[in-house]
Amino acid sequence: MQRPDVVIIGAGAAGLFCAARAGQRGLRVLLIDHFARVAEKVRISGGGRANFTNRALDPAAPQRHFISHNPHFCRSALARFTPQDFMALLTRHGIAFHEKHKGQLFCDRSAQDLIDLLLAECAAAPAFGGQVERWQPCAVDRVEFQAKSGSGACPSSASSYVIHSDRSVIETPALVVATGGLSVPKIGASDFGLRLARQFDLKCVDTRPGLVGLTFDGDGWAAFAALAGLALPVEIATGTGRQRMRFHEDLLFTHRGLSGPAVLQISSYWQPGTPIEIDLAPGLDLAAELRAAKSRSRRGIARELAAWLPARLAEAWVLRDAAWQRPVNEAADKALAQLAASLQRWSITPSGTEGYRKAEVTVGGVDTRELSSQTLEARRQPGLYFIGEVVDVTGWLGGYNFQWAWASAAACADALAAH
Ligand code: FAD
Repeated sequence: MQRPDVVIIGAGAAGLFCAARAGQRGLRVLLIDHFARVAEKVRISGGGRANFTNRALDPAAPQRHFISHNPHFCRSALARFTPQDFMALLTRHGIAFHEKHKGQLFCDRSAQDLIDLLLAECAAAPAFGGQVERWQPCAVDRVEFQAKSGSGACPSSASSYVIHSDRSVIETPALVVATGGLSVPKIGASDFGLRLARQFDLKCVDTRPGLVGLTFDGDGWAAFAALAGLALPVEIATGTGRQRMRFHEDLLFTHRGLSGPAVLQISSYWQPGTPIEIDLAPGLDLAAELRAAKSRSRRGIARELAAWLPARLAEAWVLRDAAWQRPVNEAADKALAQLAASLQRWSITPSGTEGYRKAEVTVGGVDTRELSSQTLEARRQPGLYFIGEVVDVTGWLGGYNFQWAWASAAACADALAAH
């Protein structure tokens, strides 16, 4: 392709969807990815079935399910391209899907169906007068901006980006960066988008792994390591005051710490050095239950606890205090109250996270104050767009990150076509 209307770097969820939509609006699109395979994160997402959106996204307040320095930034794109729009696309392609939990929608068969859909949408571009060409694997060495002086009323239409890749040098008036977040580098993640933003003097919000397991060092954790594999529903919280976040989800004990949906959700809000609080028996007045047990039972406390908690957890928990290793009727009221509090207000400070190797997403990214929420174009750098996870918009677990990828891609493609 000699001089594409737009070059998109990154053939993941956002890049492919943007390419397809721009191509179907009549644009000539060149899509470049340095990885050999297309949309690897889509392929491994949702346990291989891609939790591709969430039906519970609140159209009146979509920002509720997203983390960003500017929580309102994502509203415009999410309001214009909704989960229903994406569901309609799957239906048009005959892809069956189902709802699992809290509005989460998954492909019935495989995430590959979703990748095939995205590729088919790109291949449909010529029917609309457009074109999508894909170069893969193709490494981008550097990008230069050539501002044309004296170009009249619309400088962006005359200026161009020169992309030096290992296939050739390409010039284009519009460059879309869809290189995603930093997590799982072994399948192509890189910091290219952040470096490019900084090259053009655009601010970035500090990044950290999100939707990730939390780890715990030290002797205190040894007792819990034996519980690896055990899961239970909990209420989990972190932060204080208006920053406090709370989720009701399942918790999973692992060899190195805690994971499961509850911990993945809270990890995106957790600040290093601060505690997380866990109620291991949510919805129960455990102190009252233990007092009642004391008046009617002579069984060991661990056996009583097993009525409300997994037996393995109950047994491990009572080992933490000699006052809890006795028949319930012989326990002091104070000891029972302390036991209940320890289980329902378990406060622990993680030593870290499982890191980008295991994280599902990256929190932070290109600062939204640098971008138009309508078009995703950089305010101070005409013709340069950032979409998807590279932007400082991070969704909750449950399909919200893909919905942001689709919605930001659609907003960008529509803006490119309107130019
Ligand atoms: P990506 O899909 O990551 O695509 C970025 C593309 O850019 C990649 O193809 C990469 O190779 C390419 N690239 C990177 N650097 C360069 C470079 N220097 N040059 C050229 N190309 C480059 N979200 C959900 O909503 N639901 C889920 O079920 C879900 N499950 C997940 C499971 C796992 C294990 C992981 C890791 C993530 C999951 N996510 C899920 C998150 C979701 O995959 C991402 O938020 C989403 O893919 C982001 O889309 P994107 O297009 O911005 O980035």
